[in-house]
Amino acid sequence: MATLRFKALETLSSRKPISVKREENLTSDYYGMLVFDRPKMKKYLSKESFKGIVDAIDNGTTIDRKIADQVAIGMKAWAMENGATHYTHWFHPLTDGTAEKHDAFIDHSELGGVVEAFSGKLLAQQEPDASSFPSGGIRNTFEARGYTAWDVSSPAFIVGTTLSIPTVFISYTGEALDYKAPLLKALNAVDKAAVEVCQFFDKNVTQVTANLGWEQEYFLVDEALYFARPDLILTGRTLMGHSSAKDQQLEDHYFGSIPERVGMFMQDLENEAYKLGIPCKTRHNEVAPNQFELAPIFEEVNLANDHNQLVMDLMAKIARHHGFCVLLHEKPFAGINGSGKHNNWSLSTNTGVNLYSPGKNPKTNLQFLTFIVNTIKAVYDNQDLLRASIVSASNSHRLGANEAPPAIISSFLGTEVNRMLDLLVENVNDRKMTPDEKTSLKLNIGRIPEILLDNTDRNRTSPFAFTGNRFEFRAVGSSANCASAMIALNSVVAAQLINFKKDVDALIEKDIKKDEAIFQVLKKYIIECKAVRFDGNGYSQEWAEEAERRGLTNIKNVPEALEAYLTDKSRAIFEGLGIFNPIEIEARVEVEFEKFMKKIQIESRVLGDIAINHIVPTAISYQTSLIDNVRGLKEIFSEEEFKELAGARLDLIRKISGHISTIKAQVSEMTEARKVANLIEHGKDKAYAYDVSVRPYLSTIRYHIDKLEEVVDNEYWPLPKYRELLFTR
Ligand code: ADP
Ligand code: MG
Repeated sequence: MATLRFKALETLSSRKPISVKREENLTSDYYGMLVFDRPKMKKYLSKESFKGIVDAIDNGTTIDRKIADQVAIGMKAWAMENGATHYTHWFHPLTDGTAEKHDAFIDHSELGGVVEAFSGKLLAQQEPDASSFPSGGIRNTFEARGYTAWDVSSPAFIVGTTLSIPTVFISYTGEALDYKAPLLKALNAVDKAAVEVCQFFDKNVTQVTANLGWEQEYFLVDEALYFARPDLILTGRTLMGHSSAKDQQLEDHYFGSIPERVGMFMQDLENEAYKLGIPCKTRHNEVAPNQFELAPIFEEVNLANDHNQLVMDLMAKIARHHGFCVLLHEKPFAGINGSGKHNNWSLSTNTGVNLYSPGKNPKTNLQFLTFIVNTIKAVYDNQDLLRASIVSASNSHRLGANEAPPAIISSFLGTEVNRMLDLLVENVNDRKMTPDEKTSLKLNIGRIPEILLDNTDRNRTSPFAFTGNRFEFRAVGSSANCASAMIALNSVVAAQLINFKKDVDALIEKDIKKDEAIFQVLKKYIIECKAVRFDGNGYSQEWAEEAERRGLTNIKNVPEALEAYLTDKSRAIFEGLGIFNPIEIEARVEVEFEKFMKKIQIESRVLGDIAINHIVPTAISYQTSLIDNVRGLKEIFSEEEFKELAGARLDLIRKISGHISTIKAQVSEMTEARKVANLIEHGKDKAYAYDVSVRPYLSTIRYHIDKLEEVVDNEYWPLPKYRELLFTR
């Protein structure tokens, strides 16, 4: 009998919100208390080492051994005062999540005991055994060494009793094995390229920073119910489950009143995040029942991404204190909205200008248009690469599934920006422009700020939308490491800005004035990338058809989408900017193929298990009770009455038999399909085989299980149902 499910359900009525004690009265009192930030560096470091590290953070200078030793001493003193006993190099391997290996601050003392020790050497570099991290074949097991190296641009922090030092993770032969190393390179590339372009407009610009504000969506499920669902435990999503009669139809969850137990979880999470210097700002109920969102204030991309990884980790831990399990999967429940992670992205200068905010005069507005046009040109030219950067087995349930951005990459700009771009095309001439023409164009460009202020149009269906002062890359999955999308986006924009500078310089060399050269190049780009601009409903069938006519690609299948990393165009960008070398690109795609394949493999195994050892036996038990009932009817009624009475029951018995037989047969076929696919050596071919010959069974088997859930006696059903998972809090 379904004991685990009912035991779990019994615990629910006694669940009470666990009230959270605030650390201090004001958030600002304890914000960042667990971060070795500048004020703490100033306090704990010598003048010389403080200057050394600040210089390294701000200007990318290297830190010598002497300074590193001094920083290590200060960092250790601060960490120990705050209860740390261990330290770790914290990094982002190519898995879902981060990695850490803790070492105690101890060493043998001369007198035989131990002393607390930490050095510049240990701070700067370590050599973890890298053999068990995905490497896409870069690292042979006989050369298992990899090393982690300190990322000074992201401050160290304390989690529990461990001082965590953000690091990059690199193979012994120098190839990146993580997300952070290429991200830092991409950020550096976009900085350089954007500064060069800004120089056309303002000579004071010497640094451009890329910013990221992520919006993290997630589900909460009561932990008792979670632990009664092996599919949630092992795959992060429900592989079966009949839809709840009520789910999100009434649109009553979005921005609804936050349930108290959830509110306490959020408060607890935010308190801990604040201590780690994560500027959590917004929290709200999302569209689906039990779905929520957390968004911080945007930060520099690398720091923002570290913070996102930390928050995902914190969420999972803190949820348990409140009797919840958090689901970061893109599609935990079929039939209702899944979760994404909008990446709000912009570039800003050391002079305090957001390059995606229209300015106050024609010059700054021309700069604004320059960045807008170059961005959408980069998106148009590299739509396939951008898609490749966000696809995964889990995100594929969302993309193109009528709730999230489609697999077609297009850009929403809003009426006013579109009008400005059209105006440029109509008014810029290939011949030399007259002074009057130039003045009138500049006047028009000068008017953007007023217009944009009233520009409230929003479009939730666009995968890459301009939202007034930033672009929002909406196709990123909720469980993803944002770095993947950010590496691709910053790289393609950097490459595009470099081309723009070249194109403008070429015209200037032909004696065309700078402004006019910029106008002409922008006009050319606007015409070339017109197809990517789309402000309509991205979820509609008409758009899919229209996009095809426009020549935009629409690749829904993950292995095929991933291949975009390997095209000559993508390689030229990554290799040209020094972000990935050829080996690194191949390796990264290999890792992605393997991850995709393994996720489908795990889901298929879990589904097979649950189908055969939970669902089929349950259906048989219930069927047996029906058969007993029919036998009883036959015993006590006349032949004629029996025929009349038992008809519906006999039909049900037949129906159940049909589902049982189909499930058994399909599980066997699926297992055979796996066996065939498993013999394939090549990563890409194996991923394709899993996609084509294994993955379809996940939905066909599920269909029959869900049909059984509909007819089998509720008392028998072993797995918590959607209505239970989604409506208890
Ligand atoms: P919405 O759901 O309306 O898109 P939210 O307030 O939930 O907006 O999230 C918006 C995110 O965008 C926040 O993280 C915010 O800090 C960030 N953001 C705002 N301005 C910028 C900017 N110029 N660059 C990058 N991110 C930004
Ligand atoms: Mg948003």
